[in-house]
Amino acid sequence: MDNQGEKKNSLLDPDEMFQALIKKIGENCPGMNLERIRDAYEMAKSAHSGQLRKDGSPYVTHCVAAADITVDMGMDEDSVVSALLHDVIEDTKLTHADIARQFGSAVADIVEGVTKLTRVQYTSKEDEQMENLRKMLMAMSKDIRVILIKIVDRLHNMRTMAYQSPEKQRSKSLETMEIYAPIAHRLGMQRAKWELEDLSLQYLDPAGYKEITSSLEKKMDELERFMDSVKEKIQTRLDAEGVKSTIYCRIKHVYSIYRKMYAQKLDIDGIFDLCAFRVIVDNIPDCYNVLGIIHDMFNPVPGRFKDYISTPKPNMYQSVHTTVIGSEGIPFEVQIRTWEMHYTAEYGIAAHWKYKMGSSVSAVREGDEDKFAWVRRLLENQQESDAQDFLHNLKIDMFADEVFVFSPKGDVINLPAGATPIDFAYNIHSDVGNSMVGAKVNGRIVTYDHVLQNGDIVEIRTSKNAPGPSRDWLNYAKSGSARTKIKQWFKKERREENVIRGREMLEAELKHNGLTLDDAQDPEAIAPILKRLSFSAVEDVYAAIGYGGITATRVANRIRDELRSKPDRKTALDKMSEAAERREINAKKSGKPVHGILVEGLSNCLVKFSRCCTPVPGDDIIGFITRGQGVSIHRRDCSNCKQLMNQPENQGRWVNVSWADSISDSYVTTVTIASKDRSGLVMDIATVLNSLNAKVRSLTARDTGAGLALTTVSLEVKSSGELKYIMGRLSSIPGVSSVGRNGNK
Ligand code: MN
Repeated sequence: MDNQGEKKNSLLDPDEMFQALIKKIGENCPGMNLERIRDAYEMAKSAHSGQLRKDGSPYVTHCVAAADITVDMGMDEDSVVSALLHDVIEDTKLTHADIARQFGSAVADIVEGVTKLTRVQYTSKEDEQMENLRKMLMAMSKDIRVILIKIVDRLHNMRTMAYQSPEKQRSKSLETMEIYAPIAHRLGMQRAKWELEDLSLQYLDPAGYKEITSSLEKKMDELERFMDSVKEKIQTRLDAEGVKSTIYCRIKHVYSIYRKMYAQKLDIDGIFDLCAFRVIVDNIPDCYNVLGIIHDMFNPVPGRFKDYISTPKPNMYQSVHTTVIGSEGIPFEVQIRTWEMHYTAEYGIAAHWKYKMGSSVSAVREGDEDKFAWVRRLLENQQESDAQDFLHNLKIDMFADEVFVFSPKGDVINLPAGATPIDFAYNIHSDVGNSMVGAKVNGRIVTYDHVLQNGDIVEIRTSKNAPGPSRDWLNYAKSGSARTKIKQWFKKERREENVIRGREMLEAELKHNGLTLDDAQDPEAIAPILKRLSFSAVEDVYAAIGYGGITATRVANRIRDELRSKPDRKTALDKMSEAAERREINAKKSGKPVHGILVEGLSNCLVKFSRCCTPVPGDDIIGFITRGQGVSIHRRDCSNCKQLMNQPENQGRWVNVSWADSISDSYVTTVTIASKDRSGLVMDIATVLNSLNAKVRSLTARDTGAGLALTTVSLEVKSSGELKYIMGRLSSIPGVSSVGRNGNK
């Protein structure tokens, strides 16, 4: 275990480290405001004061080290400042506002973004889950600098992992290997990727790591001789051909050798191409020129030539690769690229800020004015003049139509943007969606139309007594699969309930027309309707009304019209009740309905609904002529109303009233729920009402002693059928003993 990181006995001095950093910035990054960077250091130092790293050094040494890496990567001033402050929201009392006040909202947003990523829970999962988790982290980083600093942070933590416990070493290394190294790769940051992979391997398979490093050590002399001779051969030839070039060679990083050994079941002696050569030239024609020369000097291995210049990799990587066999019979890979491509390959998207700063980097040779041409080209394609905006857009565009959220178990679920808990529930399973009675996001109860954000933890409450989806869910569901599942449920799963509900709704509607369900079942009335809707039985009509496929009003009107169109059918006419005739007379006498009410013999009179029984369309009603306040509408079964009728002085103040033909308004009514006084009851009531999409005006609960409770709900409904349905659902809530309307004793 002696090679697991270098433990230094002496503690690090943050001030010394910071001085070195300031010096480096002064030399390499001319545009930067050193005072601002110093202020950030001071803020981080005092905020983290008293906190120590595992090696015993002051915590702020980690922040300075992270900032140092951002400078090496060529990132901008805000990135350096953010790197210094990256842990203050997570680990100290400082807030977003504190940072924004002193360093501006961009820095504060970056630090907050890094904090959010830090809080994302990681558990090892199968590949698809990993891919979603990576995408989620990237999508959460609204500013790309957030993920870059997170990678920098991880890089330094991995470098100093030797001080952590073995468990932490393993779990962090696994996370690094599965999440952060692939993200670095995707962003084109080869250097960071290699280092993260090698550091992780060191803890994940110490024996394997050691085997490779010690074999490489043994072979080192031989390898170096080989590399030197090949390098010299190529350099001499290119110079002779007049191609300006720089040649690098290196031994491949440990993890890439490890992977090859593992995949091909070879030991290290079986792996020939341990060395990689890189020829860097000034322009693209020279790349192909060099390729021709290399192929002339050595024998190319067939099928190993790859042209990533004409077809760049998705992470913007460009180069031509070829594998050739040297005079010793040892194959080796040569990568040929321009300086611009080289810099992009090394630092990927982070290279962008270098371009923006307009400064040169030591790794890049002078005279390469066009080294960031790729960024410029991309910028030219945008109308944006601001490079940062462009990158922001690039970032957002990558996942603009997706959102990534967690299940409580830590699974990442990928949903379309704008998705709601309904989409989440149906994504898990249609049973979960169909039995959903509530949803929590990040521990808080939310409504079903709540739009999910990246990184949200979504929890679905289900119940065996769930009323099932409501038709409104179709408006909230963003994914096609959720909508399909909801529709299927309405059509099939609850057919029986749809039939019952539909029959109740139609009955109420027929009653307005002075008809009964018997009329609906009259073959002469129903047959033409069945034919038109391609239904085979009247049950299908009820079911369709129940799930909302057709409206009860439409069916009732059809039935009425069918019956009326056959005046010779005395039986049908006979069935039209006295009430219907009365209503028809009323319609002539009474003029226009007021609030959906026709008052016999009176037109445009003042109408109000009594508070004692709050009637709704479909209720049997009667009007009471008040003194100076128009006609008060009561249900005939209202106890208050019955009492009024018994008083002799009220004789002659009663008037026949009826509901108008077509009613589009909603009516406020009140129901009272008697139940046991148990915890969660109000929540359950609210959930049922919510799932039925009932428009609730108010809900109050009080305990009535002896362990009982009375809950009063005031809500809007369109008909007594709807109300009856809602009351039925409420009465099936566990602990509820009765559900009644007000006005009934
Ligand atoms: Mn950190």
